[in-house]
Amino acid sequence: MKLSLSNGIFSKFSIQENFATVKQLGFQNIEFNMKSVKKEHDTDVYREQQALQASGLTCLTLHSAILHVKDPIEVHQAIYYGKISLECAHALGAPIMTVHSNIAKKLPPHDRERCLNEIFNDEIKPFAKRLGIKLSLENLSCTSTGFAKNVEQLEEVLSVIDDGDLGITFDLCHALETKEADNLLDKYGERVCNVHMANKSHKPFTEPKPELLSFMSRLHDFEYTGPITLEIAHGTPLDEIAKCKVLFDKLVTQY
Ligand SMILES: [Zn+2]
Repeated sequence: MKLSLSNGIFSKFSIQENFATVKQLGFQNIEFNMKSVKKEHDTDVYREQQALQASGLTCLTLHSAILHVKDPIEVHQAIYYGKISLECAHALGAPIMTVHSNIAKKLPPHDRERCLNEIFNDEIKPFAKRLGIKLSLENLSCTSTGFAKNVEQLEEVLSVIDDGDLGITFDLCHALETKEADNLLDKYGERVCNVHMANKSHKPFTEPKPELLSFMSRLHDFEYTGPITLEIAHGTPLDEIAKCKVLFDKLVTQY
C-alpha cells in the first residue's frame, strides 16, 4: 500500500504553499483535490502542472470537482466539472480519478437514470477513456447531499454507469458514519482502487484503533496495494497530521 495525503486540507493556500506544506510533513504522494483550484480558469491546469513538477511530489489520484445535480438542468455544469477535472488529472499524471455519483439524493428517482446516463455514459466515461484515466466511484456519508451511501444506492448507480472498468474509492470515514463498512467491503472489496482514510468527521487516526486495524486487515486479505489517502478535515493541526503519518508509515508496511 502507498501512503498519500489529500491536499484538499490546504485548499486555502496558494498552490505552491499547498505543495510545500505537504512536503514539509514528509509526504511523497498526494491526491490532488480540485478544491485546491480556486478560480475555475481552464488554463490553471498548466500552473498546477508546473507547481507539481517543481515540488517533486507524485500525484497518485485526483479528486474530481463535483456537482450533486438536483435538477436535470444542472447536468451540463456537472459534465464541465468532470471534464476539467479529467484535464487536470491528465496534466498531473494521475492514473485514477475519484468521482461521486454526481446526483443529489433529492433528485427524483425517475430522473436519476437519465442524469447518470447523460453525465457518465455520454460524456465523462468516453473522455476518461480517451485520456487513459480510470474512474473510481466513492461511497458517501449520510450527511452528504449526494446519492451513494450504501450498497443499495451504489448498485443503482453502477447498474447504469458500470461497464466493468469502474473502480471504487472506499471512504472509511463515510463507511463508519453510515455503519456500512462491512457491507461495502463484502460487496466491493475486490474493486477498491483508492482508500480515503480518516476516522468519523474526517478526524485523523493517531492510534491503531480496533476498527482501523480490522479494516486494514480486510484490505490486506483482498491483496490491496493501492493508495491509502489521508483525507482529513480542514483545521487539523499540523502536529496531529504528523502523528497520523507516523502511524500509517508503519501500517502500510505491516499490511
Ligand atoms: Zn472521501
